[in-house]
Amino acid sequence: MSDATRCDLLLTGGAVVTMDAATGVVEDGAVAVLGDRVSAVGTAAELAGLRAARTVDCRGTAVLPGLVDTHTHLYQGLARSLGEGMPLWSWLADFMWPYAAALTREDARVAALLGAVEAARAGTTALLDHHYAPADPETVLAVAAAVEAVGLRGVVARGMAGTPSAVARDHGLDGGLFAHSTATELELTRACVAARPPGSRVEVWPGPHNVTYADQELLRGSAALARELGTGWHAHCASTPRDPEVYRGAYGTTPVAWLHEWGLLGPRTTLAHGIHLSDAEVRMVGETGTAVAHCPVSNQYGADGVLRLRELRAAGAVVALGTDGAAYNHRQDLFECMKQAVLVQRLHRLDPDASRSGEALALATREGARLLGVDAGVLAPGRLADVTVVGLGAPHLTPHHDVGAALVYAARGSDVRMTIVGGEVVVEDGRCVRVDEDAIVAEALDRARAVARRAGIV
Ligand SMILES: [Zn+2]
Repeated sequence: MSDATRCDLLLTGGAVVTMDAATGVVEDGAVAVLGDRVSAVGTAAELAGLRAARTVDCRGTAVLPGLVDTHTHLYQGLARSLGEGMPLWSWLADFMWPYAAALTREDARVAALLGAVEAARAGTTALLDHHYAPADPETVLAVAAAVEAVGLRGVVARGMAGTPSAVARDHGLDGGLFAHSTATELELTRACVAARPPGSRVEVWPGPHNVTYADQELLRGSAALARELGTGWHAHCASTPRDPEVYRGAYGTTPVAWLHEWGLLGPRTTLAHGIHLSDAEVRMVGETGTAVAHCPVSNQYGADGVLRLRELRAAGAVVALGTDGAAYNHRQDLFECMKQAVLVQRLHRLDPDASRSGEALALATREGARLLGVDAGVLAPGRLADVTVVGLGAPHLTPHHDVGAALVYAARGSDVRMTIVGGEVVVEDGRCVRVDEDAIVAEALDRARAVARRAGIV
């Protein structure tokens, strides 16, 4: 099987940011890929003897593990640049859900293609798409196929509203997305998971909308389904200051405390945002190894709050980065999220050492792969060859004394030259190679105009 003298792809001459504590950054380094795995990492000189089917001269670049976006909503891509200045729950009820209800299956598929292209071009190799519009099984599977067609890996968490809860009804959130009972939603998700089980390049997981306003039975059912089928599950949680307050009013407890009480926290549980947590809830999330998808740009866009990053990580939580949907971030660019993840902590604590670039890189790579359960996120032999190559020659990246800091503070998604997923080059010279980008952009633009008109949001 593996022949130590040859490889399929040799990336040589770049600064290799391995994210492996033992190896660190290898200047004038090289990464060898055989099949879908990294076969060797070392200096360019050490790997010079390999016979490579293809050699890429990476001098003047940084070679790092592929970035992992652990929370987005690709269907929102056609609403980019709309919906400004609203608090989250009215943004949902008055803007996002009318838009979502106007989407056809083909709209959602094209939006997923657009978002996946944008993500791939920005160096993202894996993403979690919390998809809930439309959430019929055919559309969910079409969205998963679209992500895969661009060449990415990841998860489509099938959004479920379920039977309207009292909280949803009381806050005007029980509109058109509440199409099915909780039991029916869970059965539809089971069918989607069967079509894309764990191990698929793009898997399906249960994805109830939001712990605060979902039917509690839907949350228990989602966690049970994840346990039974071997998937994770994903939901928004504690993302606005109102969440714990409203939940306490309805149930006499807070969202995370309730999840803990029912044994629903743990490594399979991936919560988007997780901002407004008490000290006790931080401990519950940490002790159970629950994962949190942190979306710093989105949190600032909605003025939703600041993640307790240091406390959560110290308690044992897995914290990774997400962009959040294109209508609540407006980009699918994890470089921007890395920078903002650091800056928001510093500003919030008025402490320039509250977080550093190395932490942001870890959240966007190693920790993201942990959250998704993907054997990537570190450049080391045996790991999946999910790799991003970033050009460092532009004026805004000159000089780059500290490559990690330059990547976090100075680089942009548009500096990515090559994105590799499972050993396959899916972005070359900054363009997607598996799909026709220009055709996707043109079709997305036509559809976006038509959806906005139908939904009455322009
Ligand atoms: Zn979200």
